[in-house]
Amino acid sequence: MTVEWKGAPVAKALTESLVPRVEALKQDGILPTLAVVRVGEREDDLSYERGLCKRFASAGAEVRVVALPADAPQEELENTVRTLNEDGGVHGILLFSPLPKRYDEERVRKLLSPRKDVDCLTDANAFCVYAGKCGPGLPGFAPCTPQAVVELLDFYGYDLTGKNVTVVGRSAVVGKPLAMLLLQRNATVTVCHTRTRDLPAVCRNADLLVVCAGKAGLIGADCLREGMCVVDVGIHVVDGKLCGDVDAFGASRVPLDACTPVPGGVGAVTTAVLLKHTVQAAERRA
Ligand code: NAP
Repeated sequence: MTVEWKGAPVAKALTESLVPRVEALKQDGILPTLAVVRVGEREDDLSYERGLCKRFASAGAEVRVVALPADAPQEELENTVRTLNEDGGVHGILLFSPLPKRYDEERVRKLLSPRKDVDCLTDANAFCVYAGKCGPGLPGFAPCTPQAVVELLDFYGYDLTGKNVTVVGRSAVVGKPLAMLLLQRNATVTVCHTRTRDLPAVCRNADLLVVCAGKAGLIGADCLREGMCVVDVGIHVVDGKLCGDVDAFGASRVPLDACTPVPGGVGAVTTAVLLKHTVQAAERRA
């Protein structure tokens, strides 16, 4: 029977492990604080914001939301980031991205202090991901979603060493950094994209398949093999229902070892990773 790798227990364990660290910081007079910079009121941003406020509150940490109107000028956004960079009471900054098209997002990203860039929007942190310099005692922060995949695999005791892992998707925010984090754990990583020939065969060859293509139902039974494990990062609303990049019906016909659900898989872990990074940023300052 396929084991379900649910995200909620991973997020719960990670959050609980951070509570004593939050307490220790508070005893030193430091309240770990994440500033969230949001432009406008997109429903998916608001929903993520609600989730992360709950997550931080459950660990005794703080979220400060800076909500700018949808028509805020570029200068106001840039000044907001500059002010938060200088604010000693703010340890992490999350900028909801992508910004509406009329903004020069690159300029805003470049302004972010890498020390507070807890979701890896800056080149400095991207470099750390590729140089293997993210994690405890190291300077960089990996992006939260790829890091959430690694946390989930760790929680369920999946040893990546020597495993054939296929990642479907090569975006700068998910696929590529994830490939680097998996390599760091000694997996043998194949990265697929829209020009990959015979995607089903490359997928079937994997011990672990991680799908982050952003295409609902892309991965059907022809891409799956008995005994493999599957992590589905995709998240879509189809006919009013949430679903992933893996076609649930196709997957149900193949006896997988383990599979993440959508919803309730990787997505549930990302806010806990954001909390972890914010605590790390506060500890570094302390
Ligand atoms: P993206 O920027 O659109 O990148 C998609 C990648 O998948 C691209 O590299 C693309 O290849 C590849 N791809 C698309 N269609 C393909 C196909 N038919 N065959 C093979 N490869 C294909 O998306 P993203 O930002 O990385 O996000 C990926 C998914 O993760 C989305 O569903 C997003 O909603 C989800 N996501 C989830 C979380 C979470 O917390 N769970 C967080 C962030 C994102 P090319 O490079 O050749 O175009």
